[in-house]
Amino acid sequence: MMFIDPHIHMISRTTDDYKAMYEAGVVAVIEPAFWLGQPRTNPGSMLDYFSMIVGWERFRASQFGIQHYCTIGLNSKEANNEKLAEETMELLPRYASKEGVVAIGEIGYDDMTDLEDRYFRKQVELAKKMDMLVLIHTPHRNKKQGTLKSMDVCEEHGLDPSKVIIDHNNEETIKDVLERGYWTAFTIYPGTKMGNERMVEIVKEYGTERIFIDSAADWGHSDPLGVPKTAKLMLQRGISEDDVKKVCYQNALDAYSQSGQMNENDWLNRSKIDQRKTFSGNTVLRGGYKPYIEDEDDAKNDIIIE
Ligand SMILES: [Zn+2]
Repeated sequence: MMFIDPHIHMISRTTDDYKAMYEAGVVAVIEPAFWLGQPRTNPGSMLDYFSMIVGWERFRASQFGIQHYCTIGLNSKEANNEKLAEETMELLPRYASKEGVVAIGEIGYDDMTDLEDRYFRKQVELAKKMDMLVLIHTPHRNKKQGTLKSMDVCEEHGLDPSKVIIDHNNEETIKDVLERGYWTAFTIYPGTKMGNERMVEIVKEYGTERIFIDSAADWGHSDPLGVPKTAKLMLQRGISEDDVKKVCYQNALDAYSQSGQMNENDWLNRSKIDQRKTFSGNTVLRGGYKPYIEDEDDAKNDIIIE
């Protein structure tokens, strides 16, 4: 079975993670622009970060057989630094229009401050102007209130709910988000957002329309195999293969392919992995590591250790 992880911060993950994800069936990932743990102090850090997620990281993923897409936006936490926020807003149109960018995001609320509200709305307007999808991060504290308010903002600004993905939902928010016509995403993140046994119950109760899952794995204690592991658990607990496919692959594809930047052919007809390739003169190899060349290497006798 093929899987998409439509929310994962791969710049914080290792090549072993890419390998494990590939082996587990992950064919594509979306990397939303977000906060790095260390607050940025100047727009140049944002610029380099955006360049990295549209450039090097996309290349790095391809060298492990995974298609990489991203979203561009000013996250809610750093919207509270007004000077940085203003300067970042000026960078967004340029980066949002690059190849492989599937949405403006992840934007929304963290503490629901006035500054967060201001830059959330500005970015909703930008998405409208650029005719782009929007990925919304809902807050960890005051989850329900923050989720309802996020949808109110989208509607006040005239966004079409079918062009908006509301992420990090839980049992408290699902009903409203589905009823109002939004894509309803769930993050399988150990200890905080949503465990996968709860996710199984949600699918049993609400079905699979407009529902999908992601791992949101990042620099914290998280699991980049959240999607394939949950798929396995769903099958074990009696959810049909069709439904698992919708929640772990098809619905995310349907949502994000509206951007025109993400197409199933990207991975069905991807080019063969050749780790001799370079990006701006650099390969994913360090030191004398031997490059992997798909097909050529696979045809060799795999019991020989060089
Ligand atoms: Zn995230």
